[in-house]
Amino acid sequence: MPARRSRLSSGAAISTENKKRSLHEPEDEIVSPRRNKRGRYSAEYRKSKSASPVEANTPRKSTKQGSTNSKARRTAKEIITEEPYVEEDSKATYYEVKVEVNAEEETITTKSTTKRKTKGEKEAEMSPLGIRTKGLQMFVGAHVSAAKGVQNSIVNSVHIGGNAFALFLKSQRKWDNPPLQDEHKEQFRKFCLDHQYDASKYILPHGSYLVNLAQEEEAKAKQAFDSFLDDLRRCEQLGIKLYNFHPGAVGQSTLESAISRLANALTKALSETETVTPVLETMCGHGTTIGGPLSELGAVISQIPEKFHSRIGVCIDTCHSFAYGYDLVSPEGFNSFMQEFDDKIGLKFLRALHLNDSKAPQGSKRDLHANIGTGFLGLRAFHNVMNEERFQGLPMILETPIDRPGPDIGGSNKSKPIEDKSVWAREIKLLESLIGMDPESSEFRSLEAQLSDEGRAERQKHQEQYERKLETEAKKKQKSLAKGQKNLDDMFKGRKGGPKKPKTTDLNTSESRPVE
Ligand SMILES: [Zn+2]
Ligand SMILES: [Zn+2]
Repeated sequence: MPARRSRLSSGAAISTENKKRSLHEPEDEIVSPRRNKRGRYSAEYRKSKSASPVEANTPRKSTKQGSTNSKARRTAKEIITEEPYVEEDSKATYYEVKVEVNAEEETITTKSTTKRKTKGEKEAEMSPLGIRTKGLQMFVGAHVSAAKGVQNSIVNSVHIGGNAFALFLKSQRKWDNPPLQDEHKEQFRKFCLDHQYDASKYILPHGSYLVNLAQEEEAKAKQAFDSFLDDLRRCEQLGIKLYNFHPGAVGQSTLESAISRLANALTKALSETETVTPVLETMCGHGTTIGGPLSELGAVISQIPEKFHSRIGVCIDTCHSFAYGYDLVSPEGFNSFMQEFDDKIGLKFLRALHLNDSKAPQGSKRDLHANIGTGFLGLRAFHNVMNEERFQGLPMILETPIDRPGPDIGGSNKSKPIEDKSVWAREIKLLESLIGMDPESSEFRSLEAQLSDEGRAERQKHQEQYERKLETEAKKKQKSLAKGQKNLDDMFKGRKGGPKKPKTTDLNTSESRPVE
């Protein structure tokens, strides 16, 4: 429906994207020139997987043909494919924002083609990009769009072959949202039955990035709590039992008080709901964020009354925990991470996983999601994950980037990124294929090498950035130490028989640990 699309202003969409960018670092990294090299490995591991109808229309193949006709056809197809995500209401997620921009622009340039193709393309839209694998103990899926109503998330998950999925229950950029419509709720429950998704186990909504339950300021804390509770109630209305959210940030306060505020807010929310389990996500420890060290999440849970312990959980985000500093790559490192999880939190609280590779190195404390196998985690880490028996039965959600350069409209060289959901369809199959695979086999080794090669330039870029940052920090530290030493020297110069001059190393101890 072109009319609906044209109602979207690209200005609005762009400003939303900017907002998202400020809240969640990955955005500025998602559009990467490396993305168009994806074809190399995907073509490789796609061979043994089910062929996808959309793959036959990817620019990779179309550009090879070089015909304007095929290019137009491909563009039209992409518009139709994305149509369900172009939405006038408030439920658009950050994944959709970019689609809105693209769909709108592409509509303008290929209007006639779109009209002509509608019927056939709509049929193609129904063909899944991936077929769901039945009978697995690992439930892999992605964070899909819920635009135009929560019920659409189910269709979108089926489309990519996901056995689990995440969604936003309301707009991520607004505090006030209309309640779920009865019709949407009914459809959601019906679609769950139709498509055999157990909403109580494999659907993991993601909380709003605006919400900080550790907020110190009273009015803001109330706003955050109300929004959080509203989301939990939406879960209960939909029969969803798990709800993932970010633990929040310390801000200007202390870690100790922030953890107490968070635990108190959770306790209150738990006492006002009945069936839903809030799930704390592990974080990368950027700034004053809570949840980098596993011990912080353990501390939160320990302050929640035991009667609620069956309804509180933790979600491991592989990218976040690695970026915080945990080694998830070597099997030994991975095992000690699991051991620490059990020691500091308790494995019974583990309820879900977010599966993302990391563009930034271990310990960088940067939240930059990479496609599976292309980041610093690499395929080996995901082999650990997919073969970890303690993860069986948990929802595993991809939040990996799916943008790739769009078609070069009118030869203007202005390529706008478009979403390619077949990336998720392939990553789901890739992860599932790791179950039981011998990591020493040539099959694993070559997959690992191909994916690693694809992400090499991106990794190098972030490695250099990280090293520069460390260098600057070291210089700063030296400077302030030198300054402190000079002050002390000045102080002691005039004194006779004063206290012994402290060694430089003593000064180091006065450095406080950054609040995570
Ligand atoms: Zn996550
Ligand atoms: Zn993240």
